[in-house]
Amino acid sequence: MPVILISSERFAEHQTPPGHPEGPERAEVMDAVAAQWRKLGGEVVAPRQATREQLARVHDADYLRRISETAGRAVALDQDTYTSPDSYEVALLAAGAAIDAIERVMGGSHKVALALVRPPGHHAERHRAMGFCLFNNVAVAAAHARTLGAERVAIVDFDVHHGNGTQHQFEDDPSVLYVSLHQWPYYPGTGASAETGVGAGRGFTVNLPLEAGAVDADYRLVFDEVVVPVLRQFKPDVLLVSAGFDAHERDPLANMRLTTASFGAMTSELGRLAEECCQGRMALVTEGGYDLRALAASLDTVVKVLASPISEPQWPKSDVAPARGRASADAAKQALAPFWGF
Ligand SMILES: [Zn+2]
Repeated sequence: MPVILISSERFAEHQTPPGHPEGPERAEVMDAVAAQWRKLGGEVVAPRQATREQLARVHDADYLRRISETAGRAVALDQDTYTSPDSYEVALLAAGAAIDAIERVMGGSHKVALALVRPPGHHAERHRAMGFCLFNNVAVAAAHARTLGAERVAIVDFDVHHGNGTQHQFEDDPSVLYVSLHQWPYYPGTGASAETGVGAGRGFTVNLPLEAGAVDADYRLVFDEVVVPVLRQFKPDVLLVSAGFDAHERDPLANMRLTTASFGAMTSELGRLAEECCQGRMALVTEGGYDLRALAASLDTVVKVLASPISEPQWPKSDVAPARGRASADAAKQALAPFWGF
């Protein structure tokens, strides 16, 4: 089987306060997805912890020390980011799962790896925990891919929130392309279409802010007009995905209206691109997704797409005009015109 799932039975030990969206029930959903995959004959492996050296490519030493000091303790790192006594170890496993995913894909043992992790990572900054995130799992994986010989790494982030931590990590680095689709205006406040990168990295940050209420057709339009053409021109050596499921219509935190099938379609679009650009090498790392039924159904759809032969993406039919997608794509194309052909 060309696809492998990386998941740990310990993810539930990252306990957040009762009622918090990142409650341990999210780990149960991931466990169920992994169990189902195993039942179908798929491979599921447990991650090992990320090393200090791997984390230090993305986080500064003082921050790593501060997070390590939360081991054994329940701490509020900011108004919505918490640790339980086991969170430090579980977060090391989450970053380690992302590392493991990229190693398997780069090493050629598997074409595609899906790391089912919590806590999520894309809000974590170099020096700061934020938005439920401790270590920036996908950024750690991207930095690791560079050390494994990938000259160009693309990260596509379809979590409903902008991945401020990931953007900041690579905004001055032309070897890592960051593409984000997110609700706007919304938490964390970054991700305007005019944010296109800094210095040598100008043009390698692609932001697709979408007004609340965006539907399947809006996402399809920005994929067709911006995400796919930019990735094709960038020609990554490996494709990473920050796979958040909180743009789902059932999600209690955000206000987008994606149906489950769109998560399959986005995965399919990205899989096809990876096939075209980089021998199919793709590693997905989970981010948010707070309606448990929607999370389970979306993950199930994604796994099915990954396990099937590459085919035409099956975007759901939509009779709503994609006005939000149109506005987002037009703004992005204008901002990025100096760097990419559309
Ligand atoms: Zn999110």
